[in-house]
Amino acid sequence: MLRCDKKMVVLLLGAPGAGKGTIANFLEKEYGFFHLATGQLFRQITKQNSVLANKIKKIINAGKLVNDTLTNKLVKNNLVGKKAENIVLDGYPRNVMQAKYLNKFCKIDYVFDLCVKENIIIKRIIGRRICPICQTIYNIYYKKPKQWNHCNFDHHILIKRDDDTIQTIKLRLQEYKKFNQPLVTYYQKKGIYKKITLMGKRLITQIEKILKL
Ligand code: ADP
Repeated sequence: MLRCDKKMVVLLLGAPGAGKGTIANFLEKEYGFFHLATGQLFRQITKQNSVLANKIKKIINAGKLVNDTLTNKLVKNNLVGKKAENIVLDGYPRNVMQAKYLNKFCKIDYVFDLCVKENIIIKRIIGRRICPICQTIYNIYYKKPKQWNHCNFDHHILIKRDDDTIQTIKLRLQEYKKFNQPLVTYYQKKGIYKKITLMGKRLITQIEKILKL
């Protein structure tokens, strides 16, 4: 099992744009969690010049999920040697097959399901900008950087994700709805599921309180 006594594994569920990345970044920066974001790992692969990179790029831009075998393998490889760390899983698992796979080698302590209304989600994704260096997430409507289109921390120019377009968002939301409910039921049965509806600072405070940070 991938956890020693005092360490915790936190899993973040939620639609695209629900705030998984923001919370995971916060836990990473403020509390030193190891942040594993499958979307980010896939985006790194797409930068390579390979058949796999092109295949993944197509899947991401079609708003579909990458196949479970590849995703599971990627996660397992990236968790090697992390036994002693607090871990936050951002965007994995995304279906019950993945959850069952994860369950074989990793004990999950908390599952937070970030629930946000669809109109807010769409505005968040359309307005999302990311620092390609430190992965800090900004938003042109809700969370502006201090200097226009530049990261507050390393001052790099912010980028927009290729899949953050209105067409792809709709497909991603469809895909999310298809797989999410069984995943929620799976973790509810395990008694570790918590639905979260707060946003912004109150959301952060709630998470800190639950995790006793
Ligand atoms: P979001 O939650 O905003 O959709 P992510 O960065 O988590 O963004 O994911 C981007 C894309 O990467 C997804 O649309 C999907 O194609 C792929 N992806 C990420 N995580 C997984 C996963 N656990 N299983 C399959 N595909 C994934």
